[in-house]
Amino acid sequence: MPVSSLSGIGAKRAEQFKKLGVSSVGELITFYPRAYEDWSNVEKIANITESGTYCVKAVLASPISDSRIAGGRILSKGSVYDDTGSIQIVFFNNRYISSMLTYGIEYFFYGKINCDNYGMQMVSPTFSPVSEGARIHPIYRQTAGLNGRTVSNAVKQSLKLLPPVVNDPLPEQVRRAFGLTGLREALFGIHFPKDSDELESARKRLVTEELVVLNLGMRNLRSHGRGISSVKITRDHSEEFASFLPFELTGAQRRAISDCVNDIKTKSVPMNRLVQGDVGSGKTAVAASVCYTVIKNGYQAAFMAPTEILARQHFETFKKLFENTSVRVGLLTGALKESEKKRARSELESGEIDLVVGTHALITDKTEFKNLGIAVTDEQHRFGVAQRAKLLSKGRNPHLLVMSATPIPRTLGLIIFGDLDISIIDELPPSRKPVRTVLFDSSQRNRVFGFIKKEIAAGRQAYIVCPLVEEGELDDVASAEEYAAELMLKQFRDIPVGVVHGQMKSDEKEAVMSRFASGGLKLLVATTVIEVGVDVPNASVMVIENAERFGLSQLHQLRGRVGRGEAQSFCVLISDHHNELTRQRLEVLCSTNDGFRIADEDLRMRGPGDFFGQRQHGLPQLSIADFADTKSLELSQKIVDYILFTYKDVRCDELKLLNAEIERLFERGGQNTLN
Ligand code: ADP
Ligand code: MG
Repeated sequence: MPVSSLSGIGAKRAEQFKKLGVSSVGELITFYPRAYEDWSNVEKIANITESGTYCVKAVLASPISDSRIAGGRILSKGSVYDDTGSIQIVFFNNRYISSMLTYGIEYFFYGKINCDNYGMQMVSPTFSPVSEGARIHPIYRQTAGLNGRTVSNAVKQSLKLLPPVVNDPLPEQVRRAFGLTGLREALFGIHFPKDSDELESARKRLVTEELVVLNLGMRNLRSHGRGISSVKITRDHSEEFASFLPFELTGAQRRAISDCVNDIKTKSVPMNRLVQGDVGSGKTAVAASVCYTVIKNGYQAAFMAPTEILARQHFETFKKLFENTSVRVGLLTGALKESEKKRARSELESGEIDLVVGTHALITDKTEFKNLGIAVTDEQHRFGVAQRAKLLSKGRNPHLLVMSATPIPRTLGLIIFGDLDISIIDELPPSRKPVRTVLFDSSQRNRVFGFIKKEIAAGRQAYIVCPLVEEGELDDVASAEEYAAELMLKQFRDIPVGVVHGQMKSDEKEAVMSRFASGGLKLLVATTVIEVGVDVPNASVMVIENAERFGLSQLHQLRGRVGRGEAQSFCVLISDHHNELTRQRLEVLCSTNDGFRIADEDLRMRGPGDFFGQRQHGLPQLSIADFADTKSLELSQKIVDYILFTYKDVRCDELKLLNAEIERLFERGGQNTLN
């Protein structure tokens, strides 16, 4: 049912509800309050001596009187009393107030009370007749023109439409085993709880259900066709691969490679491994080595990268690496011409391509492989879990290798990866010198530019990162293009400068990036499009303007673009923010190059909400549960174990509704569709 079928909601209101993401009555019922006001602490009027927020239980002494004040606004005034005293209540510009409050009736009034020379006044309180009994009041997200009272009334109406028996996704047996209330009760309790106990049990039930749905959905995704592997690997070709490399593998790289080879050679189930290593630790070579072994055993390999630039760069790297071997490398990205895509696809189907590097184009329905043996995803946090599953579905139980530079907390890791095995690359290539990081303000910018010029004169290259002005963003931040134009006209007149930003077409970006990579351009002015994985070992300076605008982990990723060659590299953070916390945050970066420590600090300073706010974990968006809520996560895991144990067949009738909820959760938010 559309929300407009509720009384008091016409087309205009329906439009406003839509802004809150609510179109149907069903969505309104799951539009949970963002907070609650606790009215259970009633204050006697005589006890109120200073300004603050209070709840009083008082009778309206006389009808509300309306008067006009400056600007044609309406001022509504009234007086209320309890057995200790009386107080004024005032409302601004709400012409319905006088009809909503009846004199002689006792209400709870909740709101701010100002005490000043003119006496005490309660300003625009929320209220509810004492006879309604409610002590805890829901606060909803609001939008222009749509206030909390209207939302709350609409929710009330919606709840009345619930049938006496609501189908519950959690089977009764499960609810009883874990002491969870029924769905109907929980829905009433989450919106209009009688007391804090009722709210608590409603919340527990709904949070738990959502996490159970998430957990089960993730298990389904992970186990999707993950039976016995049909990919038979008999020979290890790692040593041979190492001989193609222009460098010696580090011990950590060797260990990661042998973990993988061990998985694919000796286990009957497909490999399911995460290789985690800081930026610049050499994850690409590890993946390439494992792909090589799989290919030499007669299979194809797919390597999926999150961006066009990165895919193209890996493609170039692999082409060079496998130049003198029988391995045929192909590229498949969205930016290719239609005819090129078609050709790449047919070569994949016929088996002419052994190793394909690509973007999301790899997982569209049109792409088919002859015999995919291993799927690799680079920078895994950029992919939805379902996308990874989709890539795997392109083969018959292929091996999976995911690579990531972003450490994630354990509980979240369990949900995302479950029984994924982990190899950690905790050693940087020996020639690496740690990047030196300094914090400057913009008055020192010319010194920084002078330094860049010196480095360029010595044959090296530099990046300058400035945040792009997005629509609706503050315009005091110079946009990449204007900023670059200025540099090209002034300080760097006689130096080839390139610009890349998010609004460029990807082939334009490619062109600039590859000129920079080949040394044709000496200075690259960019927005964060260079953030992920780009590799130009000759670059030795990274300047980041408005550094305070980035998260620590993001800054660390950016910094990881330099320090990849033999030369000493530098990272200059420019910020004019003198706020203590900002300084502290940026100082962390100056004091360490350890990505794990930085991620920890980031988490500690910003809190889990912000850290995961950008949906960098590829999980669906939750409506009531919280990824940082470890206790509920653990409970939900227990329940999932119980369910899988009790109902041997997950497709059974008792779990039909739960399965429908899984579909629904994973369809929300686009990128995580199940099919
Ligand atoms: P990341 O782990 O961030 O993906 P890359 O795989 O892009 O790192 O490697 C970063 C750079 O280090 C590349 O230029 C790569 O060629 C180089 N590299 C990788 N392993 C080694 C090694 N063992 N010795 C020297 N250089 C290496
Ligand atoms: Mg990489």
